[in-house]
Amino acid sequence: MKIVVLKFGGSSVGTTEKIKKVANIIKEHRKKNYRVIVVSSAMSGVTNELISKSREISNNFSDEEYDVLVSSGEQVSCSLIAGRLIHNGIKSRSWLAWQMPIFTEGYHKNSRIVQIYKSNILKFLKEGGIPIITGFQGINNKNRVTTIGRGGSDASAIMLAKFFKAERCIIYTDVEGVYTTDPNKLKKAKKIKVISYEEMLEMASLGAKVMQPVSIQDARLNRIDIEVKSSFINKKGTLITKKSNIINNKTITGLTSTHNDSKVTLIGVKDKPGVAASIFKPLSKNSINVDMVVQNISANGKETDLTFTIKSDDLNKTKKILRSNKSINFRKLLFKKDVSKISIIGVGMITTPGVTFKMFQALANKKINIQVISTSEIKISVLIDKKDVKKALTALHKEFNLDK
Ligand code: ADP
Ligand code: ASP
Ligand code: MG
Repeated sequence: MKIVVLKFGGSSVGTTEKIKKVANIIKEHRKKNYRVIVVSSAMSGVTNELISKSREISNNFSDEEYDVLVSSGEQVSCSLIAGRLIHNGIKSRSWLAWQMPIFTEGYHKNSRIVQIYKSNILKFLKEGGIPIITGFQGINNKNRVTTIGRGGSDASAIMLAKFFKAERCIIYTDVEGVYTTDPNKLKKAKKIKVISYEEMLEMASLGAKVMQPVSIQDARLNRIDIEVKSSFINKKGTLITKKSNIINNKTITGLTSTHNDSKVTLIGVKDKPGVAASIFKPLSKNSINVDMVVQNISANGKETDLTFTIKSDDLNKTKKILRSNKSINFRKLLFKKDVSKISIIGVGMITTPGVTFKMFQALANKKINIQVISTSEIKISVLIDKKDVKKALTALHKEFNLDK
């Protein structure tokens, strides 16, 4: 059986008119003699609305109930897609994750898909039906509904492609593919034809919302090629695949930026073993994700300054935790909202010397101040003021020849 998995993001199913178009795309794939499995996200904005409602009810809303609540958006979109196909005379039905079931492990709000039961879907496919499966959700061994993290329908699609041994996995979205940088932020961004899992994983983790990072990890592990394309215009998109399938002569493949970051600095922290652990342990216990970290070398061997970044949503909680932490001493606590992390990503930088210098020089030429730096083998990230993001992206895009 030749199977294709088609995933539609929130932007593709944002209105009933768009859902009618999605039904047409599904029909096209069926004509090509594929057995089609569809996975959909909630209509755009719906998941956010549900999350706001949970916050209105309680600022400590139960994780179990959060998953039941926020996964409900997918039920709506899937039934609308199935309903439209049935309207068009095509055999279809919706499937909620627990009805299959799709099993997950791990914490609520952030579970991982580990097993998918296929028999009902296979039977339906053989009968010529098109199953429409809810993305983002699963069920755990306690028989509770789970969700797999924001943007998680991408990972649902990849895992469906894995378990059903699909020949193709296509992610439909509101842009034509993966671009050198967010095309909604920089007009000069160019569509990338082919990109490796490694580079896509870095881009996704560093802010390129077009694919969710976990989905890329799963695809890399299972060697699943992903096509990302637009649900609005029929054009060739981007192929995400293994490195050996790619010839790329550019040093840098893409740029990313984050938003909603804040910087925290502790001045005059005692410079002795265990201090960093005492600072970060309570933060991690409270699920606060710490990103970039720098510690200055202490001039006198007694005291040092420690800087790290977090999401701005966690700023108030972080302030409280640090101020009430009896196991650390510091002279002053500084907070800065509205910072952004800009990253350049590319396997080409492994073999090309001088990339770091080129990046810093390009930013310096635009008088953009670098506050924190972090690097890995295939990426360099810098923290800058949020107001400079557009200027920085424009300068770096040009510097690394991505405009062409
Ligand atoms: P969906 O609703 O289909 O899941 P998302 O909103 O999650 O769509 O992802 C698509 C968005 O990702 C685009 O509208 C675009 O603004 C953003 N994006 C960020 N970085 C990139 C990039 N490098 N290439 C393409 N899109 C990007
Ligand atoms: N609807 C979910 C979200 O908004 C899952 C997804 O979009 O993939 O996070
Ligand atoms: Mg998405």
